[in-house]
Amino acid sequence: MKPSSFRYAVPTTLRAAIDIRAGAEDSVILAGGQSLIPTMNFRLANPEVVIDLRKLDELNYLRVSGGMVRIGAMTRQRVVEENTEALAANPLIRETLTNVAHPAIRNRGTVGGSLAHADPSAELPTLLTTMRGVLTAQGPSGRRSIPASEFFEFIFTTSLEPDELLVEAAVPVLEPGEGWAFTEFARRHGDYAVAGVAATLRVGPDGLISHARLGACGISTVPALLTDCEDLLTGQAPTAELFAAAGRLARDAVTVSDDSATTKAYRQHVLAGLVDRTLKTAMTRVGVPR
Ligand SMILES: Cc1cc2nc3c(=O)[nH]c(=O)nc-3n(C[C@H](O)[C@H](O)[C@H](O)COP(=O)(O)OP(=O)(O)OC[C@H]3O[C@@H](n4cnc5c(N)ncnc54)[C@H](O)[C@@H]3O)c2cc1C
Repeated sequence: MKPSSFRYAVPTTLRAAIDIRAGAEDSVILAGGQSLIPTMNFRLANPEVVIDLRKLDELNYLRVSGGMVRIGAMTRQRVVEENTEALAANPLIRETLTNVAHPAIRNRGTVGGSLAHADPSAELPTLLTTMRGVLTAQGPSGRRSIPASEFFEFIFTTSLEPDELLVEAAVPVLEPGEGWAFTEFARRHGDYAVAGVAATLRVGPDGLISHARLGACGISTVPALLTDCEDLLTGQAPTAELFAAAGRLARDAVTVSDDSATTKAYRQHVLAGLVDRTLKTAMTRVGVPR
């Protein structure tokens, strides 16, 4: 199928993009098009105006500053994956990205597009949520920062206002010696995951876990923070029994019902195993120089 007719705008500045958005009744932002174009071809979206951001070089950047890896919304996922500064600052970003679709899709897909699309099965929203990242929106009245925990509101729904654009995603830098891992289970490599898990672990001089971050995709209507598991882990010795117990506890966080892909019970089973495996992998990286 082909999309219904629309007006096409290719602004060359962010200011112009915001003005076009503010002046249009019914517009959509086109970033990498990997999710939007199929939606338009199926006529699930029939916008009057498509605002293509591909010429906005000002949204195409990656820099590490103020303890954050700051990524412009139009930065291609593959560019971030291959960026050595981002790898040194937070290797969880690359590990997460290698689980997103296929390289061809990551060549076109942007970081901002994946986050604004807000698919609860997607990996990047889970990374931002787990890491307590911050998103920046810009509209006619200026810029505002939105914690990831407040950005993702429901399936395909964010707290962006209709006249706002997502302009930046910021992910905290990992502490020296902090362990990290992202694992997921998908029926075929490159498919959306049945479930996926992101984790970071810090261990103190006393040998106990001093800080744990744990989040998951595919189990809820938004990227899920597994805070009960984080609490269980903190202050404990990092043993195989503890990681298995965290996996069992994580099962309660699955809120989606049976669907055409799988059952709730199977998702819970997969999640428990992934939490266990992800924590074990993160633990092998604790204290390893980067
Ligand atoms: C075969 C296939 C498999 C895939 N598998 C996966 C997968 O396993 N995991 C995964 O995470 N993704 C997957 N994807 C999706 C892919 O990662 C997309 O790149 C991503 O979801 C959207 O990024 P995009 O840049 O292409 O955005 P677009 O498709 O251009 O836009 C997506 C949505 O975000 C909005 N938007 C984009 N940028 C902005 C902005 N700056 N401000 C406000 N709104 C904006 C658009 O209006 C649209 O609603 C898959 C896609 C395909 C085609």
